[in-house]
Amino acid sequence: MSRIHLLSPRLANQIAAGEVVERPASVVKEVLENSLDAGATRVDIDVEAGGSKLIRIRDNGGGMAAEDLPLALARHATSKIASLEDLERVGSLGFRGEALASIGSVSRLTLTSNCADDGSQGSCAACEGREMEVQLKPAPHPRGTTVEVRDLFFNTPARRKFLRTEKTEFNHLEEVVKRLALSRFDVGFSLRHNGRVLHNLLPGHSQAERQRRVATVCGPAFMDQALYLETDLPQFRLWGWVGLPTFSRSQADLQYFFVNGRIIRDRLVAHAVKQAYRDVLYHGRHPAFVLYLELDPGQVDVNVHPTKHEVRFRDGREVHNFIFSSLHRALADVRPGDPPADAAAGLEEGMTVDTATGEISHQAGLAWGGQRGSAAGAFGGYRAPASPAPGQAREQLRDYGRVLALPEVNSEEEVPPLGYALAQLKGIYILAENARGMVLVDMHAAHERITYERLKTARASEGIRSQPLLVPRAVAVSQREVQVAAEHGALFQRLGMVVEVAGEESLVIRQIPVALRDSDVEQLLRDVLADLIEFGSSDRIESHLDEILSTMACHGSVRANRRLTIPEMNALLRDMEETERAGQCNHGRPTWTQISLEDLDKLFLRGR
Ligand code: ADP
Ligand code: MG
Repeated sequence: MSRIHLLSPRLANQIAAGEVVERPASVVKEVLENSLDAGATRVDIDVEAGGSKLIRIRDNGGGMAAEDLPLALARHATSKIASLEDLERVGSLGFRGEALASIGSVSRLTLTSNCADDGSQGSCAACEGREMEVQLKPAPHPRGTTVEVRDLFFNTPARRKFLRTEKTEFNHLEEVVKRLALSRFDVGFSLRHNGRVLHNLLPGHSQAERQRRVATVCGPAFMDQALYLETDLPQFRLWGWVGLPTFSRSQADLQYFFVNGRIIRDRLVAHAVKQAYRDVLYHGRHPAFVLYLELDPGQVDVNVHPTKHEVRFRDGREVHNFIFSSLHRALADVRPGDPPADAAAGLEEGMTVDTATGEISHQAGLAWGGQRGSAAGAFGGYRAPASPAPGQAREQLRDYGRVLALPEVNSEEEVPPLGYALAQLKGIYILAENARGMVLVDMHAAHERITYERLKTARASEGIRSQPLLVPRAVAVSQREVQVAAEHGALFQRLGMVVEVAGEESLVIRQIPVALRDSDVEQLLRDVLADLIEFGSSDRIESHLDEILSTMACHGSVRANRRLTIPEMNALLRDMEETERAGQCNHGRPTWTQISLEDLDKLFLRGR
């Protein structure tokens, strides 16, 4: 007798469930994705006990005919692809045809659906036993589908044991709903837990509505301190919101990156973003962002992992480069003079300017709002005014735009963005007056950034000074690393490092930048090679050199308690307006803040 036998359908599905159904949140992800694929514009999610007792998701999508219900529950059955060509440019979220079968094998699942609009009955399907035979019966249901999953893992005790507390499971589940809500602004979502409505997100199509949803999902503080960016190239489009460096996080918990509408976690993307924030973020802090990358589906392989959280880009280096340069530009452009100017231009062109060259424009009001919001800390008891609603921000921009665009009607035409210095406070802050009210500048932080940017500019024009090592340093590496080092000889040279091939598995460092003389250059070389292999680019040497410049800038900048004259202070303000990234010091702390007249009026309960 043969020792080999076919597994029962249920067991085969339970094995597949091992990869796809880790916890209640995974069920919600799969079922919601099906609703979105079915064209739903509204989904209602109802869960009990963190989802382990009940998950019920109802949508108003296309629905299914009675004869399709058994197939929907069968493994390797899908309506989304039919051929390999379809797979290579898949546009739907699902395509593997195994989610419902997997979920059905580890829970009590029923599927109720109707694909007709004419008021006819729908049908309900459930599957039973080892063979997972489907029982069908008529059931009333409007057009759309309801999936009900009860007692998850009731028949797989090992899995059940891994479930955490109700609260933890619910948090995971809520996170899944948030991600999907951010991926489809045009769909309404409601979420109920143990009978209580926790979220009710209305569908929206305008920029203001999208912004409102991001604020709801990510918190108003994020929206308050985020820049909107949009870059359009023929082959890529990147848009979304990035937190100002002053809104950094201690954890990487507010990072959403969507590729063609699908949320992903990708090392290449993470590296590109980190590199873009390098110069403006405090060490060990994480940026916050909600970004959308759109590209030809043929350029990205989504069939890499069963949960589809990972993707593979056909041209990873180009994608890396595009993300990096778009974000880097947007962040470098944050300086006192720019936002209002962009606002004036942006208003006429619907807030964003996208050109073939990849021009980025800001939603300036938010940047300004952010600067202002951070005033709260400076005043202790003073509460920062509520963040402007999107419409309000627009109003403010319009007012400000008018000041700039039509100087002849305003006496304050000549007032520069950061205004004119009035006094120095406690040897630390510069107090200035501009068109909107009061400006406070942290003198040391501002000067530090200016000095740092100047040192970098000088380095860029004069080149990096480098010196030969007295004793060249041999480094044992792999063959692949030797090959990559040889390919990127020019890169090393440009950064003042001479690296030569000394053998099949050995390199030798002959020359290094003077500034790196006290650094561990061997480790640096290894890290750079690892980056080059994985991402096709590396900024570690620059980053190291920058760190040294930053330290120099810090030591060379005005210390607290130094008296500055009014002309000196004004000169500093003018320099800030000219300097890239002047909004933050080299450590990512803010350098200045705006307190408008309205803010002051509120503080004194003064109505006007
Ligand atoms: P996949 O999504 O990979 O195709 P699933 O097991 O998740 O596989 O779903 C199987 C099939 O059931 C889908 O291809 C789709 O045709 C149908 N289906 C599932 N959920 C819905 C829904 N909410 N509305 C309409 N059809 C659905
Ligand atoms: Mg699916």
